[in-house]
Amino acid sequence: MKLILLGPPGAGKGTQAKRLEDRYGILQLSTGDMLRAEVAAGSPVGQEAKAVMQAGQLVSDDILVRMLASRLEKPDVAHGFILDGFPRTVPQAVALDKMLAERGVKLDAVIELKVDDSALVDRIAGRFTCAKCGNGYHDSFKPTAKPGVCDVCGATEFTRRADDNRETVAARLVAYHAQTAPIIPHYAATGILRTVDGMADINEVSRQIDAALAG
Ligand code: AMP
Repeated sequence: MKLILLGPPGAGKGTQAKRLEDRYGILQLSTGDMLRAEVAAGSPVGQEAKAVMQAGQLVSDDILVRMLASRLEKPDVAHGFILDGFPRTVPQAVALDKMLAERGVKLDAVIELKVDDSALVDRIAGRFTCAKCGNGYHDSFKPTAKPGVCDVCGATEFTRRADDNRETVAARLVAYHAQTAPIIPHYAATGILRTVDGMADINEVSRQIDAALAG
């Protein structure tokens, strides 16, 4: 199964991608995670991307297309993948069409998570992640059961993304509406776009995604 998860920052793409990984045995490919790894490694790409990401803007199409093309070469994506955070512009969507066509790969579905902008800043500003197992939490909506201890692995170290603050989130939403939302008609035209209610609770969103993939 080859999927794209589409939606504004905070829509729940990462959470749902992890669930799809478990359910279908396919891999989440998050370009945001890839870029954060480059920034952490201090690579040339990371050095170029760091300030752009901090400002809530989009890293260049060139870098992203090259990054994804080389990721799709690895054998672990053969069973399928969930693209989380790519494509984010029309040129990226066009480049992806070409990349997949060259590899003889067809997308099964593009799942759009629809969420009200007003909910997103609060959703994002409280996010944090277990530094050891990567499980996601939220200060108000999903705190750890025991303060300061990961529910899943018991670790006590957590991380917060540098761009998960109110100012940067506002810029990320502007970028989403200006540059990413225009790819929705691109996929609607191909007939593989499925829209689900990203405002529903996490289990209901999963159920709607399952129904969309079955139908
Ligand atoms: P994410 O983790 O998907 O929210 O991405 C975090 C940040 O990485 C974004 O705000 C962008 O600065 C950058 N980024 C991730 N994916 C892309 C992409 N496909 N195109 C451009 N920039 C990206």
